[in-house]
Amino acid sequence: MPITAYSVEARRELDLEQWLALNLYRSEDDPELLLLPAELRTKAAVDIECSCCGARGASLVRGARSRGTGKAVAQGHFRFRTADGANPHDPLCDFFDEQTVRGAEYLSSFANDKSALTRAIRDLVCRGITAGLFSQADMRAMRLWFLHEKTAHAVVLDVTPEQLQWCVDMQAASAWNAANLPFMPEHGSIPGFDWDMAARLEWARRNSDLFKEVDRGVYFRRQSIDRPLRLLGQHAGQIVLDPSSLRDKYEMTCRLAGFAAYHLFEGRIKPPAIVNQHPSVWGPAGHAVLALCSLLLFVSDWDIQRASALYCRIKSVAPAPEGVEGNLMGLNPFHDYPAWQVINSARRVVAKRVDDRPVSVQVADVKREIEGAYHDWANKQ
Ligand SMILES: [Zn+2]
Repeated sequence: MPITAYSVEARRELDLEQWLALNLYRSEDDPELLLLPAELRTKAAVDIECSCCGARGASLVRGARSRGTGKAVAQGHFRFRTADGANPHDPLCDFFDEQTVRGAEYLSSFANDKSALTRAIRDLVCRGITAGLFSQADMRAMRLWFLHEKTAHAVVLDVTPEQLQWCVDMQAASAWNAANLPFMPEHGSIPGFDWDMAARLEWARRNSDLFKEVDRGVYFRRQSIDRPLRLLGQHAGQIVLDPSSLRDKYEMTCRLAGFAAYHLFEGRIKPPAIVNQHPSVWGPAGHAVLALCSLLLFVSDWDIQRASALYCRIKSVAPAPEGVEGNLMGLNPFHDYPAWQVINSARRVVAKRVDDRPVSVQVADVKREIEGAYHDWANKQ
């Protein structure tokens, strides 16, 4: 669900409200877009391009409000379709699967009005451009830089859903246990000894080399492979970006995003999502913050000190009067980064493992082995 897109005529990236305002349509008088002239809908289809891949065929989708509370639950956005209803996005485009991105928004539990946060970010982008602290040219340059990174660090997406599931089973075997010692036959003499747990831990210990292949911050869990599974479904066999090439920049961007979001609303109570959670789970508002922060880092040569100082300068300049200078939410280079990290870690685990039988079968083998060792020991007593 692209919240922003590139306007050919305006030569900048805009969200739906901004695009309508530039085309002299007051969406606040008609939030449902019921009175939108047909010419404007026709114009959108040719003027608006996907900010990620340049796809055309945009239609305008109004925001949605909850029937119960009247609160905004979805922001107005663009949807891309060809004349015959097909998906016009490049298969490598972040928005190829618009439904998934949109679903993520409904699921996100950002404490305050999401639109308020994206508006606040948009305001900062407008201030920065008006004050000359960065420009549309910088945004274009960052987009090209990211395309270049994609080309330079490409890998074939050859991980299968079964391999991803294998990694989930692998992680599940390594439950944290304070008394995680290598198995000794004497352990079995403890009353009520948990043989299943012991077998899992012993298996995980013997396969510790596999766990070292998992990126920090990556956990293979049933919930955390939903998005990776969708990406596998869409891009299997294709050339994709190796995310490890951007890991330092991603982590730096998340640090700056935490700082920026925390200081976004002066004197107000901070949304708990910001304080307690990683930017990757902030939903669409997180994409907006990450996009701004990656731009600040990009124009600061990825120096986080300089970028944080730049953020503070933008915060202190006067709000821009017009508010349609553009914005850059669709520019977030780290849109699906955590999911790609999961996939990439799975690829390395699979390359390293020597036994590809199901984890449960291997754990059962270990259980038989340690039980046997215990009985041998007990018989000698
Ligand atoms: Zn696209």
